[in-house]
Amino acid sequence: MQIVIHRGINQIGGCITEIATSTSRILIDLGQNLPDNTGDISDPLANSEAVERIVKGVDAIFYSHYHGDHVGLMEFVPEGVEQYIGSVAKEVMAVKAKYLRKEECTISILKTFNKLNEITKGNITIIPFLVSHSACDSYMFLIEADGKKVLHTGDFRDHGYIGEGLIPAIKKYIGQVDFLITEGTMLSRSNEKVPTESHLQMMARKLMHKHKYVFVLGSSTDIDRIATFHKANPDGRLFVCDSYQAEVLDVFTHNNGAYSGLYKFDNISVFPDSNLLKNMIDKGFCMMIRCNKNKGKYSKFTDLVIDRIPKSDRMAIYSMWSGYIAEGRNQKTEYIELLSKFDNVGQIHTSGHASQECLIKVCNLTAPRLAIIPIHSENSENFRQLLSYTDINSRIVTASECINGVDIIIRE
Ligand SMILES: [Zn+2]
Ligand SMILES: [Zn+2]
Repeated sequence: MQIVIHRGINQIGGCITEIATSTSRILIDLGQNLPDNTGDISDPLANSEAVERIVKGVDAIFYSHYHGDHVGLMEFVPEGVEQYIGSVAKEVMAVKAKYLRKEECTISILKTFNKLNEITKGNITIIPFLVSHSACDSYMFLIEADGKKVLHTGDFRDHGYIGEGLIPAIKKYIGQVDFLITEGTMLSRSNEKVPTESHLQMMARKLMHKHKYVFVLGSSTDIDRIATFHKANPDGRLFVCDSYQAEVLDVFTHNNGAYSGLYKFDNISVFPDSNLLKNMIDKGFCMMIRCNKNKGKYSKFTDLVIDRIPKSDRMAIYSMWSGYIAEGRNQKTEYIELLSKFDNVGQIHTSGHASQECLIKVCNLTAPRLAIIPIHSENSENFRQLLSYTDINSRIVTASECINGVDIIIRE
């Protein structure tokens, strides 16, 4: 067997992992590099030639979730290569493509899987496990090939609404593995506190009781976070968003609403609607806002609402990673510009990624016999420090080597 980390060592995002036997080959994720602070993406693999070279001869590509750093190179995949993603994730991507006027056909050809449904490609089997992340319908994969068990975690955490299912699922369905390929985003963000989504809900409720008009700048596809604000919004207040966001919420509701009331996004007020503004001012509201580079009718309505509410009465809650608004290389000027319209700005956020504590638990529980390969972290070597008190510390692999007949190839 061969495990190839095409990309993902010492960088967050742009993940591409390959697992191959002598007769079969699959890819986990085909991600694009994350954009810089100006929104530009520099990615030497974002072209047809590079992607064709990587996917040549693969039996299928499995995407862990719909974030661009995991699916971003999908558009360059040549026809005829099978590609799989979670069924709800596919629906969300289709809504996004429709509104961005991107080609929906790329998404329509995606095949789908559901949690725990085993898929076989040649002599490789893949079982997807639903995990909590800042994207709906995210998965880890257990891959079995040549008598070896490989767990690829994708992006995950245990502090979201479905996070408490993580450890029991690993105990029940996965157990010890031979190889663990794990994300380590939080290794370089050790100072960040990791509150649960339920805790954020309490914080949001407090702020919403103080302010009648609340604007939330957050991710439009982060199901947990939107559930947090939707649930915290006091009775009688409107929950307002545009038609794109409403359509995404509709996907969440019809797929996950029956599973938990938290994911039932009802009573949504959709703009633009000529009667809405007066109602919003009368009743108070929580409004989901975004930064829109091409100042269309979306931005115009947002600006109109902001301007109609006295500055002292309006509040913005910034609900994404603090690095985007802190001074430095990750700062996004459009966020700063939007938030500058408010005197009151609160921050409510928790990471979509596994805390250091959670990473240790997963490493100990899966007790990898042969290797731990850290990906999706700024410096994979940090993993050694994280596991320094455990006896699996010596199994961390961050450079190419052959272990028990398995070739691990790590490309920088
Ligand atoms: Zn990611
Ligand atoms: Zn992600």
